[in-house]
This record gives sequence, structure tokens and C-alpha cells, in this order.
Amino acid sequence: MIITKKKDFGDILEYLKGREKVFLFGCNSCAEQCRTGGEREVEEMKRLLGEEGKEVTGSSVVDETCYNMLIKREFKRKEAAASSDAILVLACGAGVRTVAENTDDGTPVLPALDTLFLATVERYGRFFEGCSLCGECVLGETAGVCPHTYCPKGLLNGPCGGMDGGRCEVDLENGCAWIDIYRRLKAQGRLHVLKRISPPKDHSKDLTRPRKVVLDRGVRGGA
Ligand code: SF4
Ligand code: SF4
Repeated sequence: MIITKKKDFGDILEYLKGREKVFLFGCNSCAEQCRTGGEREVEEMKRLLGEEGKEVTGSSVVDETCYNMLIKREFKRKEAAASSDAILVLACGAGVRTVAENTDDGTPVLPALDTLFLATVERYGRFFEGCSLCGECVLGETAGVCPHTYCPKGLLNGPCGGMDGGRCEVDLENGCAWIDIYRRLKAQGRLHVLKRISPPKDHSKDLTRPRKVVLDRGVRGGA
């Protein structure tokens, strides 16, 4: 799940300076679970903008704001989306981008949220970063613990010399990711994996932006 947090309302007002008619998009998926962009937050944003004298011309809380076909459909269904002075999107950056893709008439599409990270959901309302989207997953060698995400130094061969009694030297509140990896591999009877030195990653692959995956028809999961 993509984790978002609300932008400061003052910053949003600054974006909207000189623009009085505002259409709102929310997202019924990740942003709804983060309590940043579901029905309730869109209603709250309507109220706040109304108090500032803005006219909210309409709103739409889409199942997934990052899904282009759904946004396209909303633009067809809701004329106000295309005839406002600005569109404010309560969704992650991918959602904002998707809405922006559907406007080429000069209407600014503005983010109401900051996009933070890809999370594991421990339970409703408790989110922890689980993956840093490196594009070359090593979880098979690390017993499901991501060294890029859980080791602040991103070490592929740990632990570092600063590990102290199983705690991470960067933040003693946290356990060392590599001790966790060791314990899990041991429980799996796979400690031999640690004898292999992992080569440095080719981070140039990660620099190719924007990344994309286009599936052939009928092919599942390919890139
Ligand atoms: S190694 Fe870590 S950052 Fe990379 S894909 Fe796997 S979980 Fe994500
Ligand atoms: S103590 Fe462990 S988690 Fe912390 S930086 Fe060193 S190897 Fe990484």
C-alpha cells in the first residue's frame, strides 16, 4: 500500500491562490486507508475550502485514482472536473499524475498529499515501510527482510561493525536487520546463504526513469 500524509492546509491555499472554483478527487484505496483521501477527508476538504471562500464545484472519490480508465470515466461523467479553475487531488503522486494526464486544457492539477512509502499493513492504521522498490529483489537471500529498507546503511552484506547486542547503531530503538536475517535463515536451515558475498547492485538500472512495465496480451507477470 502507498502511504500518504496530508499537506499543510496553508500550502494548499497557496497553490490555490487566485483560483476560486476547485474540483476534488479522492481515492478509495490506499489514501482512504491512510485517512488522507477517502470520502471523509474529501468532505473535510470541501468544508475547509468553503470556509476560505472557495467554491468546490464537485468531487469524485475513485476506487483507484492511479487507474487511468477510471479517471477518464469521471471526466466524462462530471463536467465540473474539466471546467474548474483547479483540481485538487487527495491521492498519492501516481494518482495526481493520472488526473494530470487527463487534463490538457491548462487547468492545474494539484496534490493535497505527500507520498511517503510503500508499506506493509500490520493492521488498519499501522503501516510500516516494507520495500524500497529497488527493482532487484534480494528477499530470497535475506529470509524476507529487506536490507535496503530495514538496514539504514542498506548493507547487502551485514551486519556492520556498529551492531550492538543485536541493536542497530543508527537507532538503538531498532533491532539490527542483519541479526534478524541471520535468525530467520538459521530457523530455515539456510545459514549457508550468508557465506555468499552479495555483489554490489547495479544501481544504474534504478536510474532509468520513468520505469514501466508493458505486458504482452495474455502474458501474466512479465515485464
Ligand atoms: S530488495 Fe527490498 S527494496 Fe528491493 S524489491 Fe526486494 S523488498 Fe523491495
Ligand atoms: S547495525 Fe545492522 S541494521 Fe544498523 S546499520 Fe549496521 S548492519 Fe545495518
